[in-house]
Amino acid sequence: MKQKIATIGSHSALQILRGAKDEGFETIVVTTPRNAKVYHAFGVADQFIELENYADFASIDARLVKENAIIVPHGSFNAYVSKADYDSLKTPVFGSKAILEWETDRLKQREWLEKSQLRVPKNFHSAGDIDRPTIVKYYGARGGKGYFFAKNEKEFEAGVEKSGRSPLIIQEYIVGVPFYIHYFHSALTGETEIMSMDKRYETNVDSLGRIPLKHQEDIDIDPSFVVVGNLPIVMRESMLAESLEMAERLVSASKKIAGPKGLYGPFCLETIITPEEEMYVIEVSARIVAGTNAFIPDSPYTALRYSKPVSTGRRIAMEIKQAIEENKLGSVLD
Ligand code: AMP
Ligand code: AMP
Repeated sequence: MKQKIATIGSHSALQILRGAKDEGFETIVVTTPRNAKVYHAFGVADQFIELENYADFASIDARLVKENAIIVPHGSFNAYVSKADYDSLKTPVFGSKAILEWETDRLKQREWLEKSQLRVPKNFHSAGDIDRPTIVKYYGARGGKGYFFAKNEKEFEAGVEKSGRSPLIIQEYIVGVPFYIHYFHSALTGETEIMSMDKRYETNVDSLGRIPLKHQEDIDIDPSFVVVGNLPIVMRESMLAESLEMAERLVSASKKIAGPKGLYGPFCLETIITPEEEMYVIEVSARIVAGTNAFIPDSPYTALRYSKPVSTGRRIAMEIKQAIEENKLGSVLD
């Protein structure tokens, strides 16, 4: 194949590049000089393009076009490449550009989730309306940095004062367990697959249970949700049908809001499941999420479906390869 698979060296690049090589593609990693050693060490990249700053990603666009590269985007693209630069890339990307603004704009995302008839936590429009425990979130605070809790207007105002920023969303705090469900929607077959599931390891909220409450009160810890790792999980089997239906509704609504191609490729529903077995969706990611890294080379779900080890990274390469073979690249690239 003359096409090469390229991505930024961070987030989920190891499995994207490994999966591409397993399917017979040559691979390119775009990385900082410091991170290059990771991709050397694991032997997943055939070519290295070094960039000091990922914000300058657009400066290597022409070179990637010349290399016949296809970019597989992941969380570092959202975090470091501006939307204007990303939208204007000439190098084809695997994933819908039109759906991205429905992911990154939290108000639009909410509209998309509601159009998909998914259960979402209540949002409070004004701090005066807070009548239950809430989690207060910031624009662009990806990874949960700076979120705080507030049970009432007074706590809300104290939190805002402490952070010195103006928050965007005051959201009902759902008491339950998190499940991040990873999916893949094939534009070639129209099928949505469950790939794997993880829960995040967030510091310091995941460590609070290790300190007795009595001492927590003494040392005044503010819970924080910064993600630093991921743990694999599987779901009670009788809940899988609902998980699939939720994703199917999300894909079908995406075609109404973002054009006929809609959402395709890997995506994730971040859910919290309550003791009543109600699944609340707190966020959608319209691309590969890093929780899939816990499933190299495969997951319990992909092991059931495929006769070879298939990670989400490899599933992406399989889709691109099939599109090349069927002369349908236009259906899976933006
Ligand atoms: P990085 O390249 O590691 O800075 O990550 C890019 C973006 O993806 C950041 O917004 C991170 O918060 C997010 N991210 C990175 N790793 C993970 C992970 N293991 N789980 C969830 N989100 C992640
Ligand atoms: P987010 O940035 O929306 O992905 O949220 C980061 C983390 O905050 C999640 O992984 C959850 O642990 C927590 N979280 C966010 N929203 C809620 C909610 N409505 N109820 C309970 N926990 C939440």
